[in-house]
Order: sequence, then C-alpha cells, then structure tokens
Amino acid sequence: MDIKEIPYLPERLSGLGVLASNLWWSWHPGARMLFKMLDRQVWKESRHNPVKVLKELSKETFDSAAADKDYLRHYDIVLSRFHKEIKGNTCLLLEEIEEARMHSIVYFSAEYGLHHSLPFYAGGLGFLAGDFIKECSDLRVPLIAVGFMYPEGYLKQQIREDGWQENIEQILDRDSTSIFRVLDENGNQLIIKVPLIEPPIHVAVWKIAVGRVALYLMDTDIEINNPWNRGISARLYTGDIQQRLRQEIVLGIGGAEVLEKLGIKHSILHLNEGHAAFAMLERIRDNVLKGMNYSEASQYVKKTTVFTTHTPVVAGHDIFPFQLIEKYFHSYWPSLGLDRDSFLQLGLHPNDPDAGFNMTAFALRMSGFCNGVSKKHGEVTRKMWQSLWPDLPENKVPIDYITNGIHIPTWIEPKMKLLFNKYLGPGWVDDIDNPLIWELIDEIPDDELWKTHFWLKIKLIDAIRERARQRWVNNRISPSNILACGTLLDPSVLTIGFARRFVTYKRADLIFYNLERLKKLLNDRWRPIQIIFAGKAHPADDPGKRILQKIYNFARDPGLCGRIAFIEDYEEQFAQYMVHGVDVWLNNPLPPMEASGTSGMKAALNGVPHLSIMDGWWIEGYNGENGWAFNHEESEGNQCQKDAEAIYRILEEEIIPCYYKVSDHGIPADWVRIMKNSIKSNAAKFSARRMVKEYIDKFYIKELKEVQNA
Ligand SMILES: *Cc1c(COP(=O)(O)O)cnc(C)c1O
Repeated sequence: MDIKEIPYLPERLSGLGVLASNLWWSWHPGARMLFKMLDRQVWKESRHNPVKVLKELSKETFDSAAADKDYLRHYDIVLSRFHKEIKGNTCLLLEEIEEARMHSIVYFSAEYGLHHSLPFYAGGLGFLAGDFIKECSDLRVPLIAVGFMYPEGYLKQQIREDGWQENIEQILDRDSTSIFRVLDENGNQLIIKVPLIEPPIHVAVWKIAVGRVALYLMDTDIEINNPWNRGISARLYTGDIQQRLRQEIVLGIGGAEVLEKLGIKHSILHLNEGHAAFAMLERIRDNVLKGMNYSEASQYVKKTTVFTTHTPVVAGHDIFPFQLIEKYFHSYWPSLGLDRDSFLQLGLHPNDPDAGFNMTAFALRMSGFCNGVSKKHGEVTRKMWQSLWPDLPENKVPIDYITNGIHIPTWIEPKMKLLFNKYLGPGWVDDIDNPLIWELIDEIPDDELWKTHFWLKIKLIDAIRERARQRWVNNRISPSNILACGTLLDPSVLTIGFARRFVTYKRADLIFYNLERLKKLLNDRWRPIQIIFAGKAHPADDPGKRILQKIYNFARDPGLCGRIAFIEDYEEQFAQYMVHGVDVWLNNPLPPMEASGTSGMKAALNGVPHLSIMDGWWIEGYNGENGWAFNHEESEGNQCQKDAEAIYRILEEEIIPCYYKVSDHGIPADWVRIMKNSIKSNAAKFSARRMVKEYIDKFYIKELKEVQNA
C-alpha cells in the first residue's frame, strides 16, 4: 500500500492508512473523528486532511492511541463498517441485468468537487459530479469516473485593497492528499499517449478512491511533454481556445485510452456536460476496429450513451473553429471511415452552420439519452435545440430531464445529523430518499432545532473572524478591509447568505439596486439584517470581477454599517460553513439561466430556507410554506428593478417580522416552522439518491438491455 510515506503507524492502527487513502472518510463523520481524536490541533491545521495528519503526528501519539481502549473501540467500528461498504454486491436496482455481461458505467466530467483538499472544481458542475459519484458508491452502482488533475486548481482568490480579484499562484502538493499514482507493470507511473493526435500528447494517470468508485485523473504536467503540452491540464477552463480544444481532446480521447490501457470494459458512457464528448469517437473507433461500419458503430454507441447538459446559455457551449478541428483530427476521421465533411458535420449547429464545431450539438446528435438538470431546464433545452430535430415539435424533442440533487451525507452538518439520528429513527440514513421519513422532522422540539442552528451560526461567524484575523496578521491589510472581511458580523442579527460563482447572470449585486431602501433594512435599530457574500469570478471574466469589486466596496463603506461582508476564496470548506450557518439563502439569477442550482438545496437540508427567484430547481421545490419565491411569471418592465423590489418586499413584510417574532422562551416559533418545512419538503426530493435512482431507471437499465441484446 502506497500511503504517501507515513513515517510511522503501529500495526494495530494500520487501518488508518487504508481509511486515509479512500475519500470515504470525507462523508463519514465517524471516520473523520478518528483522525481528529489523534490530535485536534493538527487536524485543524491540516484543514481536515487525514493524509497530512498521519504524516505529521509523532510516534508517541500513535502509540498512545494504540493503547487507548476507547479509541480502539471506535476505530474497530469504523473500519468494519468501511470494509462492509466497500466490498459486497452491486446495486440491487441493477440486479435484473445479467451480472456477467454488465461491466461498468463510465462517467466523464471535466471537474469534480469532492473536498477542499482536492481543488479540481470551479463550481456547481463539479459538485454535481462529485456528489453523483459518492452516491453511486453508496448505492453500489458499478461506476468508474474519469477526469483531470489540475495541479494549479481553479484559482486561489485574494482581493486587492481596491476590491479587485487577484489570482494567487498555488501548486497542489500531490503527496499530501488522498490521491495516488497509477503504476504500470514496471512500477512506474502509468503514462499513455493520446491516440492519433499529432503532435503527440502524453498523459500521466492518477487515481482517487471515492468509496467504491475509482476516479482516474489525467495530468499532462510530465517531463516527456513539451511546455505547451505540459500546460494542458494546468488549470480548469483556460480561456485560450486552442488549449481548450486540446484539454477536451485529452479528456475525451485520452480518457478513453486510459480505460483501454487499464483493461476497463464498460457498457455505458455517461458524459457530464459536453467537454468530454470526444470520448464517443473512441468508442466508435473501437467498434469499427472490431469490424462494424461507421453507421453500425455510431448507432451502437448512441444506444449506450447518456449526455447530461447543464447550460441554458448559448454562449456557454464550446464552439471550436473548423480549422482547429481539422488540425487535430485530420488523421482521426479516416480511422472512423469518415471524410472531412462528414466529420465536421457531426458538430454543426443547423441555425449557424459556419460558426464552428459545436460540442453540445455534437453530443446531442450522437447520444441516445439526453437530459437537462431540472424540469424547467428540460423545457429550455428542448426549445434551444429543437432545430436539431426539424421534423419534431418542440415537446417531442428527445431531451428529458432529471433534476439535480445533493449527496446528503456530504452536506448535512454533523451536529444536525445527530439531531436527525435522535428523531428520525435509526434507519433514516439508509432511507434518505423516502419522503415519509422526513415527516418526522416535526418531532424535533423547536428549541433543539433552533439552538443547533444558532450554534452553527456562531461557528460560521467565528470562522469568518478567524480568517479576518489571519489576513490582518499575515498581510497587514488596512482596517477597512478587515471590516469588509466580516469582523463586525453579529450572530443575533438576521443573516442572509449569497455564495456562488461571480458570473453576471447570477446578479450578486441585485440587492443593492435601491441602496436607500437596503440601508434602512441593514440599519434598523431593532430588527437589522446583515449579508455575507462569497464567490470567485472566472479569471477572464472582467464584468464578473467588477460586480465583485462593487460588493467589496460596499462592504468597506461605513454607510452600510458593517453589515455587509465579503469572504475571500470561496471553496468547499467555507461553503459548508455558509450553507449550515446563515439564516436565509438568497438566489436571484436572471431566468432562465440557472439550469438547476444546488447550493440552495444544501442550505434547505440544514434548515436554512431559500429566498429565490422562480428558476432552476426552486420551481419544483417551492410549496408556499418552505421558503419564499418571486417572479412567478414573466412580465413586462425592468427585470432587475422588479426583482429587487420583490426581494425588499418579502424581506420587509414576511422574513424580518417572522424572524424577530420571538416567544417568551426566546424561540422564533413561526420561523422554526419554516425551517422544518424546508427540511421536510426538500431533503428527499433533492437528494442525490433520488437523482441517481432516476438515472438508473430512465437510462442505465434501458441501455444495459441494449447491451444484452446486441
Ligand atoms: C454547491 C456549490 C456550488 C454550486 O452552487 P450553485 O447554487 O449551483 O451556484 C458552487 N461552489 C461551491 C463551493 C459549492 O459547494
């Protein structure tokens, strides 16, 4: 076992090395506790990273744990549970499919949000992928995942004194995370060459164990590559179009080659967004090599491919100039039995045939099972792509929907989980997508739920102040910037959270639309509110950075009374604090741009109700009693003004009076009822378990039957 050269680990505790090398620990509080119990301070300083903890602790610490009865009892329970879950049979839902012929499902995604120690994500798409594979592990779905390792991550954000976002260089220390080299037969790191692409690109292969799911990650930063090739995997979503095409070639074609080299047979291909769509070409080529002609091979691949699209924005789809496609694929298309024109046609957008090779048009054409990620997004996508099926009316366009969900064990706060353990009965974790279980939320006494929530709010504000203190100590930034980091936040004040990527359509600055009206709310003597912002703009997105700067400057402005905070470098760990600890989660994108959204689901699960525009998942989630909604239907006029006014009205008339109406016992009973409704109505419905089961029912089972009949 290559567990990153841990200097010392007693035999009795060798299982700690096994646990640290499987991300299973990240969604099992009992397993995390094993590392925390060894040394709380080191655990905290490692930012909850078991590999670092094991590398740093002394021999004495391990020896004393190995002699501690209580520790060993806990250790034995966690390890037996781990082994039970990691071994064992595959998914019951798939049992009807003849096991021997089943092979696995492969899942491709350009990003995975798994844990903050693995910065391979930019936002929602990555967390969806991470939550998806964790749930597949829990449900024992035979799935293998493929993606990129980005040594420079996405970006580490630091805000300049004038509010402009800067990108701090930070290279991942690959030996201090739960990530491992995949070795070849000689014991060297496995390196593959991307087939048929000239000049050649080489890729090193890494692996992360995510419970039962193996995630293979590709890295081009190796000596054999020239500097330009080495940079392919440097960071997520580069702005350079040619480099971006090369990323997608490596992801799709290189990824398929990795599976081939590892001898992984698969029956189903699932593409999470269009970035990896070239993987379909390798499957076709494989079948052509086996003797099919192009049309047979592409039909077979079509019947066994799922494509999930996430982007309702036209500009969000990758389009590559034809001459770039020619440059990289001229030796590829003959291997499929295609000529230049028929190859380029695969990526044509019927309404704009000169624009270039459109990855989404390509993926939709070639996959037999396509879906959007909410009911509304399904409709929007059918409308957007109707021209690909000119003979079909819009409602017959073969694009379905499966609404996103979150992996509950990852996003539920451990203290909240203990509360649920107490009142939902012992088996609730195994029955997470059963709405009946969640009716038992009503059994939780109001004061217990409220106290737990309040404790989480204090924890959030403490974490914010600690970050501010460190910035003060390490960077000597000016006092007004330290205030902007949230040092004046007050736990007794109604707290609104807004945290997500800073892209213009999400309209982070909407609530500042009428500054005077907002100031009245922030400044109210008896019933004030405060707002916490966090999020990153894409490094090439100057309009996004300008919105961020505007908000940061509001946060520094004494006129807003220290009640606006901007927290730097939003990532998974801070996202956890936010969705657990604020009172209201605000979401106001410009409809219909939010395909689904998931951060509001994370908040709702922890009793933080959603105040959102009717878009994405909230159209399915809102029931009149579990949060607040506005813009129920489209109407004429200035959209920003209308939406901002709706937010002020709901705050003034509903949210603020309800929050501050406290009973004799100090509990805001009406508010707690909304918290309970939020958990009750959303948890099962927007769980990754419900989502993965839907993918199985709607797609995987049908596709496996095709494989059996082939
Ligand atoms: C969940 C999550 C997101 C996605 O949030 P949206 O609601 O889809 O915008 C982005 N970043 C982090 C760190 C998250 O945890």
